[in-house]
Amino acid sequence: MISVDEALAAIDSVARPLPVVETSLTVAVGCVLAEDVRSDIDSPPHNKALMDGYAVVSSDRATRRRVVEEVVAGQLPIRRVEPGTATRIMTGAIVPVGADAIVPVERTQMIDDSTVELEWVDPPAGKHIMPRGELLRRGDLVLRSGHSIGSASVGLLAEVGAATVAVVGRPIVALLPTGNELVSAAQLPVAGQIRNSNGPMLAAALDQLGYRVDLLSVVGDDRELLAEQIAMGLDSDVLVLTGGVSAGKLDLVPDVLESLGVERVFHKVAVKPGKPIWFGTKSDSVGDHYVFGLPGNPVSSFVGFHVFVKRLLARLAGQEGGVFWPSVRLAQPIDNRGDRELFYPVTLAADSTGGIVATPTAWRGSSDLGGIAGAHGLARVPATSRGSPDNSAENESVQIVPLFDDLGWFSPV
Ligand code: AMP
Ligand code: MG
Repeated sequence: MISVDEALAAIDSVARPLPVVETSLTVAVGCVLAEDVRSDIDSPPHNKALMDGYAVVSSDRATRRRVVEEVVAGQLPIRRVEPGTATRIMTGAIVPVGADAIVPVERTQMIDDSTVELEWVDPPAGKHIMPRGELLRRGDLVLRSGHSIGSASVGLLAEVGAATVAVVGRPIVALLPTGNELVSAAQLPVAGQIRNSNGPMLAAALDQLGYRVDLLSVVGDDRELLAEQIAMGLDSDVLVLTGGVSAGKLDLVPDVLESLGVERVFHKVAVKPGKPIWFGTKSDSVGDHYVFGLPGNPVSSFVGFHVFVKRLLARLAGQEGGVFWPSVRLAQPIDNRGDRELFYPVTLAADSTGGIVATPTAWRGSSDLGGIAGAHGLARVPATSRGSPDNSAENESVQIVPLFDDLGWFSPV
């Protein structure tokens, strides 16, 4: 059995980023850029008014000016501004030749259609004007290869004319819940049956992360049927199975995977819940394929997904940085006397000093999804810690696996 850190390192060492694809900017959010992007324009493209007001000659001291023109954003000024004159100008418009400052409209008074009186006659040169190219010059490097594209990046790429960009491909994930006992959410289970929670749950989690999901139909604990469905799942970049990976008589998944040429990277990690997790890879003429077998208990599957599967998906999509699992103070210690790290659901709230404090939810173990629905994170509690109310120095602060992508940061705390 390996540790959580060893398992994460093993995932990192086998995960190879997917091939680069050229994609439209409209669908690039969430992808990792695979090229350096340079600006094809100066930004701003012209000397730009930053206020609504009057474009003037800054050295002019006359209080009354003749208004020679009015320009709005998108319009080309044609008249030169000279001492004694001004151009009425709107935010974003091109500053006319001759003018070198804007007096905001709030500091002026219209006398008649063509005369304005300034309450501020000596604006410094350059006031409320952004010179052409101040932000970017044509040819400037805007974003480097390896950059994770968020919505602000999409805006920036649009600004510099990158309507299509080269990005690392995003993995397509096949989901295959296994187990004789499983029926769908729409069915009423009869004796011995339970509903398939894992399939819809993991499909939803993948959906929230923006990965394409291929949801395979549930398969029973039967070697041939399993082999058939797994072979289909291996068309995808990543196949995630649930159930059938522990030591029971019908836990056939590891065997069947290996018989299909999937090479085991690890089986069993010192993690609670979810110890029997299986991970392996297979390469064929199409490319690399990665397979997770997650234990069937829904919270085991959930933890396995958020701790390990997400890590693989991020690496395949070209994300090279570390995962951000911030350390947070625990409102009360969490007892973990085993030899495995425990991932325990917590809610997060601000404490009186504005820091974040994590409070354990009422959770009753690996089949209790109710105790995890609404959790903001999973507290990573080290093995053999003995939390107790009088021993609060112990696991006073723990790492949190954030579930913000699952809940949304702004969900009520
Ligand atoms: P297994 O990992 O196959 O030994 O399953 C462990 C436990 O999880 C058993 O109680 C299963 O009935 C349950 N289980 C397996 N798959 C699912 C699933 N897709 N949804 C909900 N529970 C499941
Ligand atoms: Mg089973």
